Amino acid sequence: MTDDTTPGLIGDRYETVRPIGRGGMGIVWLARDTVLGRQVAVKQIGDFPGESEGETRRAMREARAAAALNHPNVVAVYDVTEHEGTPWLVMEYVAGPTLASAIRERGPMTPRGAADLGAQLAGALAAAHRAGIVHRDVKPANVLIGGGRPKLGDFGIARSGPDDQLTQTGLVTGTPSYMAPEVAVGDDHGEAADVWALGATIYFAVEGKDAYPSQGNALATLRTIAADPPRRPERAGQLEPVLADMLSRDASRRGSMTQALRRLESIAAGGSGGAPASATHRMPAASAPAPAQHHPRQHPQGSPRRGRGWLWAILVAGLVALLVAGIAFAMSGGPGSDGSSGGATSDRTSASRTSADGTSANRTTTTSPTSSASSTAASSTSDGLITEAEGRTFIEDYFSTVTSDRDAAWEMLAPERQTNRSGYDRFWSGIDSVTTSDLSVDEASGEVAVTLTYQPEGRGESVEDHTYKLTRIDGQIRMTK
Ligand code: ATP
Repeated sequence: MTDDTTPGLIGDRYETVRPIGRGGMGIVWLARDTVLGRQVAVKQIGDFPGESEGETRRAMREARAAAALNHPNVVAVYDVTEHEGTPWLVMEYVAGPTLASAIRERGPMTPRGAADLGAQLAGALAAAHRAGIVHRDVKPANVLIGGGRPKLGDFGIARSGPDDQLTQTGLVTGTPSYMAPEVAVGDDHGEAADVWALGATIYFAVEGKDAYPSQGNALATLRTIAADPPRRPERAGQLEPVLADMLSRDASRRGSMTQALRRLESIAAGGSGGAPASATHRMPAASAPAPAQHHPRQHPQGSPRRGRGWLWAILVAGLVALLVAGIAFAMSGGPGSDGSSGGATSDRTSASRTSADGTSANRTTTTSPTSSASSTAASSTSDGLITEAEGRTFIEDYFSTVTSDRDAAWEMLAPERQTNRSGYDRFWSGIDSVTTSDLSVDEASGEVAVTLTYQPEGRGESVEDHTYKLTRIDGQIRMTK
């Protein structure tokens, strides 16, 4: 399915809502998982014109391997399913812009902000490399910014599609700017080429332009990549030596992804980035001096990661987009009333995720499971506003109750959410426990943002960010969205 025709119900389960993007392999659709009642993104991943059966099988195999990747900076793969004989990928829906469009709209990041972004992506890629997965298509268009966090998509499934950079016939059809020199001359794409592509992505983030100027002709750009060093960055500051190594034309001098991660983390934390992997390799002289460096704002929740001021702005935009998308989604039939506004896993393949950045690591709520009556009665005040304490207590109570006393949790939902009890039971019966962290309450709107760490039965944990809306109904707080 590469045209705009709505594909309908994918794999008898995912109801397509609207197109949300278009890539080299066709349209990406926002869809509703009719079983779990959550939003997902779906796209066709094989059986393209000119593609062999073996290539389609490989795409499916790699998508399944990507589903096992366990990292908060990776777009989670939930399922690989079939629709009219072709394979489709079902993944986490990230309500936010790509890094490419964010930089185009807002301008380049500070060196520390870009180092922080790069460190998060390097963490994801280092984990993938340890698992034997090479990304092969790291680029700003494949980084989605959701909830203030960069997430790398298309893991392990990038390959020659109809519009890919280098087709099997050797025809170059896209921008090859993120291709490592060895790949540009026809070598295999190994881990070192991912290091290069991440370096080029960070370069773009801090410079606001590609490391190699577009020549308007992909083959000419490829020739330049194969023959010349990238243009020297002008704004990278303390990032420059790290970028010089990551963009070393000699793959053996780039260092591993883990080394890049350590150096980027050091810069993000205000350090020097440590020793370069290569003491001799340097980019050519810059044509302009580096501007004064601006320190980004701190993460508002005191995260140990620094330099997220720019990302925070995107988070706000992302939350607005999420809200708008949620409203649009609800108006178009709405998610199921599972009470979770998003579940943990699919029945088939689940992307379990860890909390490697420490933002949501295994914090078990100490609130004892209470009935809806006690939690709501305690919060009953005269005006309609939900206070910080009330919002916090309600959400913690709800998620500690839902796995121990589903009837009580169901009663905590507003009547308009109580429409699909069987779906609700099906979802929550597969979850052993769920803990809350990073909880914040907007008293004016009654919205509570929270990170949920699900522990599904017999599977790895899953971490998701959600926003719930609480409303006081007849003096009792209820979850309306
Ligand atoms: P190519 O397939 O050539 O690498 P691409 O990576 O830009 O191109 P896709 O991965 O198909 O293409 O994505 C196209 C667009 O769809 C993205 O730019 C993004 O806007 C949107 N998109 C993709 N995945 C998701 C997702 N999981 N959640 C939300 N939007 C997404």
